[in-house]
Amino acid sequence: MAVDAEMLALFTAELKLCKVHEGEVVVTLTAGAEWADYAQAFMLAAQSLGATAFNVNVPRNQANVAGVQGRHPLVGNQAALDTLKKADLVIDMMGLLFSREQAEIQAGGARVLRVMEPFHVLKQMFPTEDLRRRVEYARALLMKGKDLHITSKGGTDVRYKLSQYPVISEYGYTFEKGRWDHFPSGFSFTQGNDGSVEGKVVLMPGDIFAAFKRYVQTPVRLTIAKGYVTAIEGEGMDATLMRSYIEGFNDPRGYAVSHIGWGLNERANWHHFASTRHLASEHVMNALSFYGNVLFSTGPNTELGGTNDTPCHMDLPMKGCSVTLDGVQILEDGNVVHPEMRAPGR
Ligand code: FE
Repeated sequence: MAVDAEMLALFTAELKLCKVHEGEVVVTLTAGAEWADYAQAFMLAAQSLGATAFNVNVPRNQANVAGVQGRHPLVGNQAALDTLKKADLVIDMMGLLFSREQAEIQAGGARVLRVMEPFHVLKQMFPTEDLRRRVEYARALLMKGKDLHITSKGGTDVRYKLSQYPVISEYGYTFEKGRWDHFPSGFSFTQGNDGSVEGKVVLMPGDIFAAFKRYVQTPVRLTIAKGYVTAIEGEGMDATLMRSYIEGFNDPRGYAVSHIGWGLNERANWHHFASTRHLASEHVMNALSFYGNVLFSTGPNTELGGTNDTPCHMDLPMKGCSVTLDGVQILEDGNVVHPEMRAPGR
């Protein structure tokens, strides 16, 4: 397979940010014929930095289709899992997110970098040291924060009590032992204390159903009590769609409020799906990372060490929200107003 020179250069730059060096073992993890070009380019990039590189490939079959979080083709494959645990860096192009297997690989000391976006998105949202600084600042704030309050002109008014769960940063590369990241991204997130999330979230036109690659067209009012969505109301089709989707999993844990954070990647585009949703390859990282979003979500919390492993996950990036943490303002009407998190030139 011929390796594209531009891809090799970009992946080498990415692995340099990950501090891949002489003597390290880099394993690319793929399923079926997916991402074969990325796997080749990452292996050559790793070799050029002095690392040993190889590919672990497993079949993708109907029992473990892509798209359902935490269910993937590595389940039950102990030999492959043992190999991955011995790596210094695993480049996950299979979709380990939210799985016990990912936690096990990280516990073994391997850092894990998820890469599942089209090449033009990897280029467009390529991480920077400054993005890392701002995302880590958000993480530090969330780690000491106690009371997160989100409001909007559309009627959102929801409070999270924090401290029970860890905070995860995602800035697009990883150089710390055992640390996971997602190339590309740009936000930090945590989870409200069990039973603590209370209030209303109103999804407004322009907010995003990441699972549907669709912009909300008509307001959807979510009532939240004790950490669960207890009502999904709205006159338009969007409320019907959301109710139908969650009901389809037949799992009451799908109504739980999940991770929460805000987007800080000024290179990510809110309008991404509007121009690309006809392409099957397009993924969600622009939507999850765009500068000044509130990334509200529902469903599982195993990624943060919780026990809810429902496969029903909805990421719902919202525009135009205001956020305060312990009274300190972070976002105002969708603008990053905290000076430490404002992007250069914004
Ligand atoms: Fe999510």
